[in-house]
Amino acid sequence: MSELRWDPLKLHWVIIATDRGRRPRDFQVETEAAEMTSCPFCYGNENKTPGEIFAIRSSGPPNSPNWKVRVIPNKYPALRIEGDLNKRGYGLYDVMSGIGAHEIIVETPDHERGLADLTPAEITDVLVAYRTRYLDLRKDLRFRYMVLFKNHGTRAGATLSHAHSQLIAVPLTPPVAATELKICREFYDTKERCIFCDLIEFELSAGDRVVREFANFVTVTPYASCFPFELRLYPKKHSHDFALMNDGQLSELAVALKDMLLRLKTVLKDPPYNFILHTAPPMQQRLGKPEYWSSISYDYHWHIELVPRLTQIAGFEWGTGFFINPTSPEDAAAFLREAEI
Ligand SMILES: [Zn+2]
Ligand SMILES: [Zn+2]
Ligand SMILES: [Zn+2]
Repeated sequence: MSELRWDPLKLHWVIIATDRGRRPRDFQVETEAAEMTSCPFCYGNENKTPGEIFAIRSSGPPNSPNWKVRVIPNKYPALRIEGDLNKRGYGLYDVMSGIGAHEIIVETPDHERGLADLTPAEITDVLVAYRTRYLDLRKDLRFRYMVLFKNHGTRAGATLSHAHSQLIAVPLTPPVAATELKICREFYDTKERCIFCDLIEFELSAGDRVVREFANFVTVTPYASCFPFELRLYPKKHSHDFALMNDGQLSELAVALKDMLLRLKTVLKDPPYNFILHTAPPMQQRLGKPEYWSSISYDYHWHIELVPRLTQIAGFEWGTGFFINPTSPEDAAAFLREAEI
């Protein structure tokens, strides 16, 4: 059983994933990117993965080929679905059982194509799978947040090259999300406006960090980007919850997402990257806090954050939390805007 442990000095939670049980020599092996002879995400290998949770397929029974997108439990999950949280103190620390869900969304049956290479219709299917799993996991009252992310390339943490993303449901709000949610709520409290709507309006009028604008979505490089070619993809109309997007909106998002990934692939020659979907958490009642979610549909604005993994985090960054970014976001936006895709 994994454990979630709280450090009261660093103010962070860490998942001690004992199920993975790595010993020193396991880490030496990991530096050589092992390419499997037989990929568990390809057609015909459905029996090499745990049974599917959800799939979009043209024909055939579950766990057979002919699927377009397939969602399966992670074979080596960081958190496990069974059990109670068992929250408790341990000396100065806090600890709880590693309860959660860890799912893999296989984005295409085609081993050779990345998410950027899929058609907008195929990407729409991937987004429909995201939405379906979000809505389902929200019914589990133990989960306070769903982290949907993609690791592309070995340097970004992908252990299998076949295109996939991951969804981890966790029993607490991760600090990055908690900070963002708090800032949005406080901004709304004083100004009665969504901070993201203000930011999007400003970026559209300034223009020099806009990579591409669509009717309902916009891609920008953040003003204070920590990393070169960092990107954000925003819905232009206010919306706090990705899972409320209808099919038409998801197909528009697919076009914008493909455009962003293809520009990145063209300019940086298929770089490793991570993206994370930031959206409203499940609005479960908090005991003694009836007003807890009262403004979230007004104050929060879902979006996608993407970070190409071009530079290494070194001593200065680890030690200070400051980042040195060698490419200005204005230059990055210009390179991406001018890319011929
Ligand atoms: Zn494959
Ligand atoms: Zn907004
Ligand atoms: Zn965010």
